Amino acid sequence: MIFNKHQQDIAEKMDLNVSKSNWKDWKWQIKHCVKSIDLLESLLEIKLPFEQRVLLKKTMDKFPMSITPYYLSLINTDDLEHDPIFRQSVASVRELEFSNDDMKDPLHEDKDSPVPGITHRYPDRVLFLVSNRCAMYCRHCTRKRKVGDVDSIPGKQEILAGIDYIRNNPEIRDVLLSGGDPLLLSTSYLDWILTELEKIEHVEVIRIGTRTPVVLPYRITDAMTNMLKRHHPIWINTHFNHPREVTASARDALTKLANAGIPLGNQTVLLAGVNDCPRIMRSLVHKLVLNRVRPYYLYQCDLSEGLTHFRTPVGKGIEIIESLIGHTSGFCVPTYVIDAPGGGGKIPVMPNYLISWSTNKVILRNYEGVITTYKEPLSYEQTFCDRNCDECNLQLPLEDAAEYRAVGIEKLLADYDNTIAIVPENNDRTERRKAS
Ligand SMILES: *Cc1c(COP(=O)(O)O)cnc(C)c1O
Repeated sequence: MIFNKHQQDIAEKMDLNVSKSNWKDWKWQIKHCVKSIDLLESLLEIKLPFEQRVLLKKTMDKFPMSITPYYLSLINTDDLEHDPIFRQSVASVRELEFSNDDMKDPLHEDKDSPVPGITHRYPDRVLFLVSNRCAMYCRHCTRKRKVGDVDSIPGKQEILAGIDYIRNNPEIRDVLLSGGDPLLLSTSYLDWILTELEKIEHVEVIRIGTRTPVVLPYRITDAMTNMLKRHHPIWINTHFNHPREVTASARDALTKLANAGIPLGNQTVLLAGVNDCPRIMRSLVHKLVLNRVRPYYLYQCDLSEGLTHFRTPVGKGIEIIESLIGHTSGFCVPTYVIDAPGGGGKIPVMPNYLISWSTNKVILRNYEGVITTYKEPLSYEQTFCDRNCDECNLQLPLEDAAEYRAVGIEKLLADYDNTIAIVPENNDRTERRKAS
């Protein structure tokens, strides 16, 4: 049901003039976001003890709260404490429990920023924060440090500076718009940003990271999809964390986006007490695929301040991936990643399938526990690659293939590079060598 009794109740408590059309008006939803303890109590029909109210107020002074009436209406009030919607949206005093490992900017997004709003971490793509607004403030937000901070509102000048940076760096072929939520910008403003980016010849794809299909599905209007359609190739990644979020309204939004020809992906954050369960995760990925959304990443929860209570051991993620690979369709399985503290980027983490190997055999195990042997080819003509592609027998239209510099382990594996080791900076042994 798209507009149920519970939603009607919430809507009526908020606005005397509410009607079905109001509820589905995304601007009405934004205007009526729940930001105070009083309103929360009245809508959920709960009464918090005085001490808890005081602590909660303290939490919200540091990390503000904002919940769309739509998302709030998904809460099951029978068991608030364990409700996955409640846990993701309602402030908790546990956010004040900082651990020694917590950091304000664990991914060094601000440090790896050549101009405000741009994080240039990987060679060929950038993260571009174009909006600081979110419909709902996810309690597990990795950019909690910026939530509700008026200083981090990117103005037109800042956006222009970001676009200039992209224009001046021809290696950037993929621009990832995030925020905040880019879909909270007005359709015409986003249209302008996309138009400007499109004019840059080396920008091949634009991606948008948005949680609106989950927390404000009514934002996906026909005007929005018609606008997006004019800027292909556009890819969208959304952020479903629990099967209960895949409602009729969310499905409508996803259908509109998919029908606009936009490939859809999903990034889930592994959250203690929300989705740290193989069975929940399997149900989620199946629902996503049913709605033409490809699970993209499963994130280990970052080390941002205030997220201690959401973190699981890495082993929980590996257990979940183990329960998916082989057991269900390959395209249901996201890549489990840890975003490296200090700005190293996303590092994939997987169960091990390669058990052992000899010079002619590889021993593998499958998801059922079967241990099997793959025989290596007896004759494989090894080609020494000197990167002289003109002389190579493999066929590659060179004009289509960009030159690139080998980095990291790739460099160690390459024939054409003589590097034999990667040594950390300030290594004592190399320092001694220099001294002697
Ligand atoms: C996640 C991320 C990207 C995109 O990474 P993909 O693996 O290509 O999805 C780009 N830049 C930054 C800073 C990121 O955090």
